[in-house]
Amino acid sequence: MSGAPIIVWLRQDLRLADHAALSAAAAAGPVLALYILDDESPGRWRWGGASRWWLHHSLHALQQALPLVLRRGRAEHVLEAVAAESGAQAICFSRDYAPWAPAQDMAVKALCDRRGMACHRFGGALLHEPETIRTGSGAPYQVYTPFSRACFAAGEPKPARPAPAITTWEGEIASDRLSDWALLPTRPNWAAGFAPLWTPGEAGAQAQLSRFLETGLASYADQRDQPSGSASSRLSPHLHWGEISPAQCWRAVRHAMAAAGGRLDQTGQKFLQELLWREFSSHLLHHWPHLPERPFKPEFAGFPWASNPDALSAWQRGETGYPIVDAGMRELWATGVMHNRVRMVAASFLTKHLLIAWQAGAAWFWDTLVDADLASNAASWQWVAGSGADAAPYFRIFNPVLQGEKFDPEGVYVRRWLPELAGLGNHVIHQPWMAPAPPRGYPKPIADHRFARARALQAYQQLRSASPV
Ligand code: FAD
Repeated sequence: MSGAPIIVWLRQDLRLADHAALSAAAAAGPVLALYILDDESPGRWRWGGASRWWLHHSLHALQQALPLVLRRGRAEHVLEAVAAESGAQAICFSRDYAPWAPAQDMAVKALCDRRGMACHRFGGALLHEPETIRTGSGAPYQVYTPFSRACFAAGEPKPARPAPAITTWEGEIASDRLSDWALLPTRPNWAAGFAPLWTPGEAGAQAQLSRFLETGLASYADQRDQPSGSASSRLSPHLHWGEISPAQCWRAVRHAMAAAGGRLDQTGQKFLQELLWREFSSHLLHHWPHLPERPFKPEFAGFPWASNPDALSAWQRGETGYPIVDAGMRELWATGVMHNRVRMVAASFLTKHLLIAWQAGAAWFWDTLVDADLASNAASWQWVAGSGADAAPYFRIFNPVLQGEKFDPEGVYVRRWLPELAGLGNHVIHQPWMAPAPPRGYPKPIADHRFARARALQAYQQLRSASPV
């Protein structure tokens, strides 16, 4: 269709179904779908390496269903140029909750006003807009449980929107080629192991949801904490990139619960609660945009973190000598994700056993996770470090041996990622230094648990004496 196009500016909403901005645009005229690789606005939070791998494949998948114009640069500048080149009549886009997004949105609104274009922003990345979930006194929630109660009370998501019939704009306009963006690693190709595990894109997301409903949901509540199992949904990268909306996941699980006549109520409820942790993190980031940089609890600004590049490097490489930590770090490198329980243990080890600042761990995760999400990553790291909203108390310090024994009692997970430990018996698999013949090629612990625990508690005490926490 010719005529003035409606630009659909795609952000983290790389799907066709349940997409309010795309549906509104498609109903109003020819669509010019635009994705902008903006490495300027996010500053140090531009996409990391693993995210770029995912983005490449997700855009490739979307291009099969919807012609995309690809451009690179500061989003508002690119939008202005594309609007001028195409003579667009309007811009439609989904809301984003990153700290730089409000300034972008205002700039886009201003450029639309200047050019006499309509500007429409839609929700969709979250179940509830941050303005709508408030405490009785109108403040944002800082504690998860009442927050989740308020979300449940706010009602169910609206009915799903099917993928719209789209007429694409047929005018001439330049586009980058996806390959020009060099989003994929070359030498060394550290992402070689990702492709067999993941199918980025909307179809992959829907397939993953179906698989989870069929094989994971029933055991989710009981088994989600076991890193060797497959009870969790593995939907996080799909949710992060908006290949599936949280509302689609919510409705599908509700539907499965209703169809099972009560049998799945408890496990389904648990899954919905986890979706609300994602929601909670995004609301926190919206209200406290400094969350990725500074402690949520300001008194933690004076925490006596240590500078220890060798220990940080050992942690990153999975060579701390604690199998559950090392298995997690190697899973992360090989697959682009790490099991949630192990993320907690690995993060606790870095911040408490090694006394390395959570920001250093969050930065490594940012580069290596395919689900790296500014809100969930920052909120979770701060939760573990004790400085976050509704955080685990600082003095709760995970013992990596006991965590391993509790959640991976047979050592299945550890043996999968640390083949050099495969020959150890279950009684020493989480403390190989106790084996009669400790395995060659596996390091001794870089920190003694009892010493490290006492040192962490002392550091915390120092902080409390300086400013009561
Ligand atoms: P499921 O258990 O199937 O949960 C369903 C969905 O709920 C997930 O896909 C995710 O979107 C959401 N969710 C579950 N748990 C959490 C949580 N604790 N916080 C926020 N959302 C949650 N998650 C990210 O998506 N991106 C991150 O960058 C990220 N960084 C983390 C860093 C640390 C230190 C820790 C402890 C956790 C982090 N998480 C992050 C949360 C969690 O580990 C992952 O969301 C989860 O492992 C994804 O696996 P899944 O999709 O199988 O989860």
